[in-house]
Amino acid sequence: MCRGLLNREKLAIVLTMTAQIILKIDVDTLRGTLKGVPNLIRCFNSHQVPATFLFSLGPDHTGRAIKRVFRPGFLNKVSRTSVLDHYGLKTLLYGTLLPGPDIGIKARSVIQNTANQGFDVGIHTWDHIAWQDGVKTAQPNWTKNLMDKAFDRFQDILGKACEIHGAAGWQMNNFAYQWLDSKHFKASSDCRGQFPFLPIIDGRQLNCPQLPTTLPTLDELIGMNNLSANNVADHLLSLTAGQPLALQVFTLHAELEGMKLLDVLNQLIQGWKKQKYNFVTMTDYALQNKGLLPYCEIEWAEVPGRSGQLMCQKITH
Ligand SMILES: [Zn+2]
Repeated sequence: MCRGLLNREKLAIVLTMTAQIILKIDVDTLRGTLKGVPNLIRCFNSHQVPATFLFSLGPDHTGRAIKRVFRPGFLNKVSRTSVLDHYGLKTLLYGTLLPGPDIGIKARSVIQNTANQGFDVGIHTWDHIAWQDGVKTAQPNWTKNLMDKAFDRFQDILGKACEIHGAAGWQMNNFAYQWLDSKHFKASSDCRGQFPFLPIIDGRQLNCPQLPTTLPTLDELIGMNNLSANNVADHLLSLTAGQPLALQVFTLHAELEGMKLLDVLNQLIQGWKKQKYNFVTMTDYALQNKGLLPYCEIEWAEVPGRSGQLMCQKITH
């Protein structure tokens, strides 16, 4: 349930604001970090748009869960040799036949370069597979251990405390939200939803704003309803045309939009520029709008095109 949403003054401010969009990049694998991230940086620089990169900072165990990462329908539509194409043979063996490489060590300079080029940077996770499979039912100690490891690694790589977070697979638990508050994070994007808010967790109002992903991701869309890499940009742009939402958050993946689907991303950025969207980062948005946000609860719910339940903003009509 959301409180304070119908406050007239707040509503007036929201409606008169220029429509804004955040490009949030989830970086899941070593390959995505080494190859996808530099491609995305070139793309964003050529369009002169800011973006928020969220890094996986510990072991890459993708091989343990490759079948669960994307829907089979999606992979078939994107390319015939899709899994191998997107991930490469090595990635598929990490955590199975090969030990999982430590992304924060192997790709340290890529992460530093992303920050040095002025992009917003934050934590996606320590171990994507462990988090996605375990956090929902995990005890506080387990959660704290993984979050502390990512936090310490970020500090080690960039020499400053991390202030931005976006949960892997939109999976969280109550302790994880509280941990973000305890570390004074400026913003986090851990759920799906419609507008930014301050979370109510366990009946307690927390301070770290949630900027939920508002748009479907490419892997949720492609392969469904006759959508392919050729027409998915038009579909997404139709969702944002004339939308009254003050803030759209689009989550993209270094392994997809940063590689095979780079063309789709170019079309999207051009389209959103034509629609007069103002591109902002998670950090900038949170700094400018924190005082205006309503309180909302978060619940587990299903999202079309994605299996299992995700954390979703609780909207009451
Ligand atoms: Zn991810």
